[in-house]
Amino acid sequence: MTRELRCQVCVIGSGAGGSAAAATLAAAGRDVVLLEAGPHHDPSTFDQRETTMMPRLFEDGGLTATRDQSMAVMSGRGLGGSTVHNTGLAVPAPRPVLERWAEGGGLPLGVEGFEAAQGEVMRRLGARVVDDDEINANNRVLADGARARGLEFIIARHNRERCSGCGYCMIGCAYNKKRNALFAWLEGAVANGLRIVVDAPVDRILERGDTTHVRGRDLQVQAEEVFIAASALRTPLLLRRSGLGLRSVGTNLRLHPFAPVAALFDDRIAAWRGVPQSVLVTGDARFFHGGRGGWILMAGAAGPAATAAFVPGHGRDVAQLMGRYERLAFGGVLLHDEGCSSVRGRRDGRPAVKSWPRGEDRDGLVAGIRSLAELYFAAGARQVFLPFTRRPRVNSPADLDGLERLPFRPYDVTLSSVHPQASVPMGAGRDAPVLPDGRVRGARRVRVADGSLFPGSVGVPPQVAIMTYGMLVAQVMLAEGSS
Ligand SMILES: Cc1cc2nc3c(=O)[nH]c(=O)nc-3n(C[C@H](O)[C@H](O)[C@H](O)COP(=O)(O)OP(=O)(O)OC[C@H]3O[C@@H](n4cnc5c(N)ncnc54)[C@H](O)[C@@H]3O)c2cc1C
Repeated sequence: MTRELRCQVCVIGSGAGGSAAAATLAAAGRDVVLLEAGPHHDPSTFDQRETTMMPRLFEDGGLTATRDQSMAVMSGRGLGGSTVHNTGLAVPAPRPVLERWAEGGGLPLGVEGFEAAQGEVMRRLGARVVDDDEINANNRVLADGARARGLEFIIARHNRERCSGCGYCMIGCAYNKKRNALFAWLEGAVANGLRIVVDAPVDRILERGDTTHVRGRDLQVQAEEVFIAASALRTPLLLRRSGLGLRSVGTNLRLHPFAPVAALFDDRIAAWRGVPQSVLVTGDARFFHGGRGGWILMAGAAGPAATAAFVPGHGRDVAQLMGRYERLAFGGVLLHDEGCSSVRGRRDGRPAVKSWPRGEDRDGLVAGIRSLAELYFAAGARQVFLPFTRRPRVNSPADLDGLERLPFRPYDVTLSSVHPQASVPMGAGRDAPVLPDGRVRGARRVRVADGSLFPGSVGVPPQVAIMTYGMLVAQVMLAEGSS
């Protein structure tokens, strides 16, 4: 039997953006229904095993990849979306990036308004600088190497409180110490009357007269306004299935490709223990100054399965390397990407992502890999493992000669992404799929409220900026007096 609900606003997707939008609307007294495709995960059942938690918390069990399977693209499924299993970095979007976005009309309330709202998001997340004794050896070697090479770095802020440092953040915090979207937004929103329906994947949206119909499996919602926040991979698919928006929806996708680099040290590193990512090497991040280009060098979340999957090599090579797992530092290059990737729907409704770094993105990744390898050697590494199939390991900085000439086609280089964004960008131009008030161009009462909205690549871990967009799109609607 199909269940029917009515409300003023229906929000689809409960991750960083959707939960911020829903909470903002509920706090203003709107009658809001939040539909989430996945379940409500109970942290007391999180068992700290990658083999059971990846399938539970991630879309496609963590196996989503680009169409040609050359790059893993991971995101979450369940109440709180990807904020449930993210690593807790709370980093506001840098001002030069915001200035660039504002020029194109892609920033609600302008740069100052956005920065003030990011400050509010940071407070809600309880973001704090990681304490010195929380910086594990995997991050300390990054700081040591950056100092030796004269590269700037920062100790990041995180949304975790009284953290035990068990290190399993990426498969959900069993101690429930992450101030994720459930804490920061949804708990208070339920007290303000927010209704949440989980296990409720939305199939399509129909605008009819003054009402918008949201149709899912065994569920129909009639709403005056709809906010889509199903993530940068799935919001474009929902729009397309619903016949809403420009043809360009999904074509501006950015992925923040991440190139893994590992390094063998004499001393114990135990990269899987402690706060996974606390040191961000920003010395090569040109976007911090000019709004575009460059990369961040950072640690990777180093659980045994994730490390084995992403260290270079195959079979016996990986087995041997994992035999020295205790002395292995694990990090990577996070690129501020400029080139376009795209996402469309497969027949089975899942996303077909097309992406491979070319031109300046390719050059940036190669230069970043070199920079991180040099940094690890400067910190005392014996051997460095690169993501190139043609040169998986190097024994000294001199072995890095000629990296730029190595093949860089799909499958020649290991890459992954956990930050899909910018697939339905906001802007003032006629070709922007979303208007500056968050409304989908061509639709009357459907807005977007997630990472899809970014006009381009943000460069830093995106949850703070995504929550800010979610909150601001809701505020803009409230200021218009709609609903
Ligand atoms: C392993 C990992 C580590 C990360 N670490 C960090 C970090 O430390 N700091 C940081 O800033 N960022 C981090 N991120 C990224 C960050 O968590 C995401 O960018 C952010 O949560 C995305 O927000 P969103 O609202 O766009 O989508 P999501 O948070 O992914 O939420 C989308 C939600 O929509 C639901 N949904 C999808 N389709 C439908 C549908 N048809 N109907 C109903 N619901 C639907 C999904 O189930 C999901 O719950 C990490 C991501 C990953 C995967």
